Amino acid sequence: MGHHHLTIKALLIDFDNTLVLFNEDQFLVAYAKLAYPYLSEFFDEATFFQKLLKSTLQMIQNDGSQTNVEAFTNNFIADTLSLGYEECNNRFKQFYEEKFHELGDTVIVVPYGRELLKRVLDAGIQVVIATNPIFPELASRTRLGWANIADLKITLMTHAENMSYCKPRPEYYQTILDLINRKPKECLMAGNDSISDMSASALSMTTFLVDLDQEKGRLGILSKEIGNSAKKEAKRFQYRIDGSGTLEDLEHFLFNHERR
Ligand SMILES: [Mg+2]
Repeated sequence: MGHHHLTIKALLIDFDNTLVLFNEDQFLVAYAKLAYPYLSEFFDEATFFQKLLKSTLQMIQNDGSQTNVEAFTNNFIADTLSLGYEECNNRFKQFYEEKFHELGDTVIVVPYGRELLKRVLDAGIQVVIATNPIFPELASRTRLGWANIADLKITLMTHAENMSYCKPRPEYYQTILDLINRKPKECLMAGNDSISDMSASALSMTTFLVDLDQEKGRLGILSKEIGNSAKKEAKRFQYRIDGSGTLEDLEHFLFNHERR
């Protein structure tokens, strides 16, 4: 057998600044403002914001010993005797049910995202929404609605309750492979972040860097923190990029890859 035939069976696609555009730092501030009233009896607003940030970073550094939502909540309630685990989760749940959808006003849908995913699904390729799993399932479903893709037959979406790692850790991508029962060579990971998304290449997945002009300058404190910790930990943090361009370019890349 000479030429190895590559077949992509699953498209893993990032969400933030890949399918919807938003400014990370502005979103974080708007999120904190909306969520604060649900926990205001336990913290002043500045403390709440700091805790939110610290507990989110705790998820990003999660080592698999607990789910991401457990990592978040355990960190969030530490040093706050009056706020228990259940109570904390319930307060956030209530916020996600009642108010979180309002943040949809702060994002812009990337044109062609829905079209692309529909064509990929029509071709019999699985779609995984490989968004950094820092939101619980409820909020993640609301976010899918923002990109107008909530009705599509998606195989898996990663969220804080079904993941125990975050990007760019290889274990995050390995968990996806285990859940969808695919080999790395059968998967294409696409996203806008050269570290968080392209680290899938460390597992021999094919990678595509989504490069949108409008996306520039939207990365904030969380992405920087991810980048810094990745640089600290990895011996080699230049991840392989197999293709790059817009979502239209991604479609061409995917289907040409298929025919190769
Ligand atoms: Mg992104």
